[in-house]
Amino acid sequence: MDIASLTIDRIRQGLLAREFSARELAAEALRFAEAENPKTNAYLHLCPERAMAAAQRVDAAIARGDDPGPLAGVPIAVKDVIVTKGVKTTCGSRILENFVPPYDATAIVRIEEAGGVILGKTNCDEFAMGSSNENSAFGPVRNPVAPDRVPGGSSGGSAAVVAQGTAVVSLGSDTGGSIRQPASFCGIVGVTPTYGRVSRYGLTAFASSLDHIGPFARNVKDAATLLSVISGRDPHDSTSAEAPVPNYSSGLTGDVKGLKLGLPVEYLKHLTSESGDLIARGVEQLKALGCDVREISLPATEYAIACYYIIATAEASSNLARYDGVRYSTRSQSSDTLSDMYRNSRGEGFGPECKRRIMLGTYVLSAGYYDAYYLKAQKVRTLIARDFANAFEQVDAIVAPVSPFPAFKLGEKVDDPLAMYLSDIFTITGSLAGIPCMSVPCGTTGDGLPVGMQILTKHFDESGMFRLADAFERAQSQTTQIQP
Ligand code: GLN
Repeated sequence: MDIASLTIDRIRQGLLAREFSARELAAEALRFAEAENPKTNAYLHLCPERAMAAAQRVDAAIARGDDPGPLAGVPIAVKDVIVTKGVKTTCGSRILENFVPPYDATAIVRIEEAGGVILGKTNCDEFAMGSSNENSAFGPVRNPVAPDRVPGGSSGGSAAVVAQGTAVVSLGSDTGGSIRQPASFCGIVGVTPTYGRVSRYGLTAFASSLDHIGPFARNVKDAATLLSVISGRDPHDSTSAEAPVPNYSSGLTGDVKGLKLGLPVEYLKHLTSESGDLIARGVEQLKALGCDVREISLPATEYAIACYYIIATAEASSNLARYDGVRYSTRSQSSDTLSDMYRNSRGEGFGPECKRRIMLGTYVLSAGYYDAYYLKAQKVRTLIARDFANAFEQVDAIVAPVSPFPAFKLGEKVDDPLAMYLSDIFTITGSLAGIPCMSVPCGTTGDGLPVGMQILTKHFDESGMFRLADAFERAQSQTTQIQP
């Protein structure tokens, strides 16, 4: 079995035809992940016992003649910010180096109920803060497509395992672009659903009003299947939505004729020429499929990065206050007083990016600055959401770039946080508006670096987004890569 190119459909077919058992598949997937991981550092830890127990349940269901579930036997990786009972969850941070959660996130429970086999936890930027995976306390991840380059971030490990073939699908988290940007850099599909579509119960909070869990996959259909499984109301998360969950993968008809698509003029000027050429070629392909593409304007775009880095850091400064050396976290051993213990535990446990954001967030929330920064940023957030609402009165979906540039070299931007923050310029707007958005591969540059196209739709229209992405993926598979 060619483990690196398996799909959900192929696994189901193999299991039901008794070509292989779920346990054989899990054992082979674990062996392959262990052998390949040194090339990327994408997995932080594997959980073989849990994986084999899940596979055993799938084999038993098949033997009984029961439906083994939509994710039966599928090897899945999970970003290490999502809690897993009895399996270490570090958030890429020293401060949680030894934290073993006492419960499972809702997304994890739903995956296992659907027959999924969780292989292990993936590397990420510390508390999901970053765009390159270089902020992990456990070393950077290498991009499987170009090992001297970053895989993107913060869900770099979850993107890398799917691109490398050491998982079939994975879960990431996206606060300002952390699923779409690494998907684009690694040449795979990455989906940020509507805010509230997937329960955040058990997702370690970074910026609660922006945090989303979402899938990575090697094709649109697999991403759609995984999203259907993890979506839906959860009494443990009051922000999870009541809206019914469609079967996303059954709506992939390939028919997008007559769809009205908007291309935001504000985005195009920031692109490098090669990424721009690929997006332009992608737009031509969409036109050839019968879509009607027109330019639209999202005028508040220029304020998005400033707005995001105020709101996200404000929320982070509050959320990260719980890591005090008393609960969850690693405690400094070198303190005489309680306040020294807090200070030293945080000083030793958090990396530089977390400290920078805690300080920035504390500042924008402090008395006297709250109105000038935080409240102002909330108003700008409303303007950004309104831009999208206006656009969706004219078009069915928006197509845009994901990142201004393809994967950059390891170390290239680490000393310049502001340059790093610019990576998110096209993804942050959708996150602030809480609308569904995804990255779908759009070709590779002359150097072989993948570039993703972003598709955005209105709240809860994941079905429309997937249908367009799937039609685009089919058209892409019929073309060859662009020549330099
Ligand atoms: N790169 C952005 C940041 O550093 C987004 C991170 C994310 O989506 N988790 O905050």
